[in-house]
Amino acid sequence: MRKLERNMATLLESKVLRARVYCPICTRTVEADVVSLDRGWNRKMRVAEGQKCPRCSAALDAAYVLDVVGNLNG
Ligand SMILES: [Zn+2]
Repeated sequence: MRKLERNMATLLESKVLRARVYCPICTRTVEADVVSLDRGWNRKMRVAEGQKCPRCSAALDAAYVLDVVGNLNG
């Protein structure tokens, strides 16, 4: 028997982190909330949706995550 429920639970287990991200529009490093999708073998970081660059007001969806600053969820 295969346990599909286990895979779904892993996908839902995302953490919100504070990180420094690189804005490709104004080429500056700014702080933003990022979501960490921890799948064990592949830890992927994405900028949380709906955020804007404080410098140029561009959407940060395409920004690169550089460094994690802290954990918002403790
Ligand atoms: Zn920017």
